[in-house]
Amino acid sequence: MFSSFVKNSRVQSLLSKSGRGNQSLFHKKPDFTKNAFNVTRGDFNYLQNDHIHFFKSLLGENRVVMDSSDLEKYNVDWYLQVRGNSAIVLKPKSTEEVSKILSFCNDHKLAVCPQGGNTNVVGAAVPVFDEIIISTELMNEIIELDEEAGILTCQAGCILENLDNYLSERGLIVPLDIGAKGSCHIGGNVSTNAGGMRLIRYGNMHGNILGLEVVLANGTIVDCVSALKKDNSGYHLNNLFIGSEGSLGLVTKVSLQCPSRPKFRNVAFFGLQNFDKVLETFTLSKHKLGEILSAVEVMDTPTMDFIKERNNQKSPIGDYPFYLMIETSGSNEQHDEEKLNMFFEETLEKELVLNGTVANETNKIQDIWSIRENITNGYKTCGAVFYYDISLPTDNYYTIVDEIRAHMGNSCVRVFGYGHLGDGNVHLQIQLEEYSEDLKRHVEPYIFERIAAYKGSISAEHGIGFMKAKYLKMVKPKTTLDSMKNLKIMLDPKGILNPYKILPE
Ligand SMILES: Cc1cc2nc3c(=O)[nH]c(=O)nc-3n(C[C@H](O)[C@H](O)[C@H](O)COP(=O)(O)OP(=O)(O)OC[C@H]3O[C@@H](n4cnc5c(N)ncnc54)[C@H](O)[C@@H]3O)c2cc1C
Repeated sequence: MFSSFVKNSRVQSLLSKSGRGNQSLFHKKPDFTKNAFNVTRGDFNYLQNDHIHFFKSLLGENRVVMDSSDLEKYNVDWYLQVRGNSAIVLKPKSTEEVSKILSFCNDHKLAVCPQGGNTNVVGAAVPVFDEIIISTELMNEIIELDEEAGILTCQAGCILENLDNYLSERGLIVPLDIGAKGSCHIGGNVSTNAGGMRLIRYGNMHGNILGLEVVLANGTIVDCVSALKKDNSGYHLNNLFIGSEGSLGLVTKVSLQCPSRPKFRNVAFFGLQNFDKVLETFTLSKHKLGEILSAVEVMDTPTMDFIKERNNQKSPIGDYPFYLMIETSGSNEQHDEEKLNMFFEETLEKELVLNGTVANETNKIQDIWSIRENITNGYKTCGAVFYYDISLPTDNYYTIVDEIRAHMGNSCVRVFGYGHLGDGNVHLQIQLEEYSEDLKRHVEPYIFERIAAYKGSISAEHGIGFMKAKYLKMVKPKTTLDSMKNLKIMLDPKGILNPYKILPE
């Protein structure tokens, strides 16, 4: 099936020398991170019986998980690429319980790993060694909804999709839509500054969080929960915690602004000749569709080949070098539909688009979206995928995909690129027949060097976590890293919160 694979003798020898061959993504349980990666345990204390006794007296037996089979899902990440060895998961229900846990851990110098839905893909949400996992899965109460103002306040462990269903019944929407919505928690979304499909319309978490309640490493509760859209009274502490990946504090409550739910959606699926035409069409879409534009996704031919091969889905319009998905959401059915149809006609007249289809029925819209949304499902049935979630200035958005393809030659099954064109976020994937540590070294740090050269970001929306921590210095000046470290030392002097993540040692 993979006829192009391993024709090149240099790469054949790389593969045969493959070091950590059993570290295969998606198929097998990975090795323990502490064995698979070169990392030294920090100077933290080990869990003792009197610690366990304290946790059980605080939470009760049922909310302290220690059974090894129950622990597994909390120790292994979604991608099956890292695996911690924690002996305990704590499940607080209230802010006060979180505060007591952190105060105790800080006093006893016990490292902790905050965890939401564990859908993170850069090894941020699972322990590296034996950190105590604090799961927010029982902190799932909706506290208040101001329907007029569109402000929701809830606990950090609410599942994103549950929040959206709740809001949907009240004519409102969660301004975030990501593939992992059925599992991820709003506290995890805040802590990763999640982006997603409709960022072009609603912005990321930084733009939508009105207030947070956060517990610091020493147990102090910082209450910045706000039911106000405007509040310029003092420092914006919320912003410090958004995207901090559990390294500065544990988010316990979230106030989120929730716009009115658009009543009508339309989706166009276009085939295009080259990436220049993709960019021109994208620019035109912003001018012509303006206020109703809600998503712009791009895919290349190798992505569609992967989709056909792995997910048994195909393009609804035949084969083209590039595909664009453009979604509109608005409140006037006829107006929105006409606007998108006129835009489609204009792109054909200007010879930007070669072919396309426009859908306005729910099932057809869902069929088109499912082509895009199901891509990651395919990873679970192929040999291995090296996955890079990067951001680039629009002009070089696709250049990097071509460069990495040339760099990989015949050593991989395919290199493919797709993503949220509207936000300059490309998901660059390298599909392999099997995991190879040598091929990984062939790609990294080369790919991060190229990103730095283009002044891009090594993480568009997934964060730095454990997997990218050592590369952060390639894209951040030393003074910036020093400021981050100083901030960390100020808020968490003993370094107990999510150690080994984000900041290089
Ligand atoms: C199929 C799939 C599709 C995805 N699509 C997108 C996408 O489009 N856009 C996007 O941005 N991401 C995407 N992701 C990545 C992931 O879903 C997001 O990063 C999400 O926001 C993580 O939420 P979570 O609750 O699962 O957090 P976790 O994975 O549990 O944790 C993520 C990080 O936040 C910390 N954390 C979790 N909860 C708290 C808390 N209450 N307080 C402090 N720290 C905390 C953890 O320690 C960790 O560092 C996708 C993932 C998958 C598997």
